[in-house]
Amino acid sequence: MKCLLVLIALSVAAFAKENFVGHQVLRITPKNEAEVILLKELSQLEHLELDFWREPIDVSLPVDARVPFHSLQPVRSFLAYNEIHYDIMIADLQDLLDAEQQEMTKSRALQPRSTDDFNYATYHTLSEINSFIDALVQENPNLVSKIVIGQSYEGRPLNVLKFSTGANRPGIWIDTGIHSREWVTQASGTWFAKKIATDYGRDAALTAILDRFDIFLEIVTNPDGFQFTHTSNRMWRKTRKPNSGSRCAGVDPNRNWDAGFGGAGSSSNPCSETYRGTYAHSEPEVKAIVDFVTSHGNLKAFVSIHSYSQMLLYPYGYTKTPCRDQAELHEVAQRAVAALTSLYGTKYAYGSIINVIYQASGGTIDWTYDQGIKYSYTFELRDTGRYGFILPANQIVPTAQETWQALMVIMDHTKNNPY
Ligand SMILES: [Zn+2]
Repeated sequence: MKCLLVLIALSVAAFAKENFVGHQVLRITPKNEAEVILLKELSQLEHLELDFWREPIDVSLPVDARVPFHSLQPVRSFLAYNEIHYDIMIADLQDLLDAEQQEMTKSRALQPRSTDDFNYATYHTLSEINSFIDALVQENPNLVSKIVIGQSYEGRPLNVLKFSTGANRPGIWIDTGIHSREWVTQASGTWFAKKIATDYGRDAALTAILDRFDIFLEIVTNPDGFQFTHTSNRMWRKTRKPNSGSRCAGVDPNRNWDAGFGGAGSSSNPCSETYRGTYAHSEPEVKAIVDFVTSHGNLKAFVSIHSYSQMLLYPYGYTKTPCRDQAELHEVAQRAVAALTSLYGTKYAYGSIINVIYQASGGTIDWTYDQGIKYSYTFELRDTGRYGFILPANQIVPTAQETWQALMVIMDHTKNNPY
């Protein structure tokens, strides 16, 4: 009997959702290099279990850290003692998560009969997004198909939507959700899919693009992680593959690419949120894209979408050496951001990864650029930290709409500048 109770207790613990009651997100603003070094030291104290939403890199960028309740007092003392300025961005993370869940539950009452009825203004589970994908294919058999480019570690299909109006076309790739907790990205990806299907034949610019190019869209690029954010831990970022010899699972799939792999701005610690893995392309979710890009052989643009920070970035992240096409990529980014901002006034920073954010090695678009895909970009969608990864659902559609403006600039430029 006692054994049974223990077993039940254990299984409840295993399936219970991680709760974030009393967790705060602090925006810490170092004013000099010495303070940055102190924050880096703070981030190494594993017992504090800090989750850096934006890491300490240098004085130009503020640091956002989720601080568990048990670490609030020591962290506040540390900051006060060292006279480092901080603001409380999120006073109790669980309050935001509860509101997010309530919103989802409320919206789920209506089962969509088609992709016209699908609620684009709420967050969806993996199975809901997969049903949406199948419905979109069924409704648009002459334009949309689903290809499975591989399997996740836990055996889930890696679904890619292919929008195509003819054979043997060059391709444009867009992915969302490679970091699973960045929910506004998968939600935007879903909106993009419907937008492409709707605009073909109606919008002249999109029609011209699809008359020359195939568009490939992977909405849930890290399905194991995404499922885990719904069932177990909303703040999960990495893949879900166990790391042998460590209690910590998962690899950062945006540090796992064979571009400066293992360099600065990636971690060798399996418990780190930026753990690179034991070798490049070790993660099946990454390897599937690598194999797809290689076997396709004719992708002309590659856009990988993250959140948050409101940035549009191009290579490189792993080296300060400017990429060969920097002037052109910069000019296109400038126009893309202008188009994005024109819709709702959302302000974006743009430039190379290493100049705008920080050195990050093993990133997606450094690898795709080095494969010869000139128009390689990465987005960091809304916001700038008020809600961070817990962006309220009423911002999904505006975020997707403004991002689409920028995507159209990039795709249009790709169409007009064959190489
Ligand atoms: Zn990300």
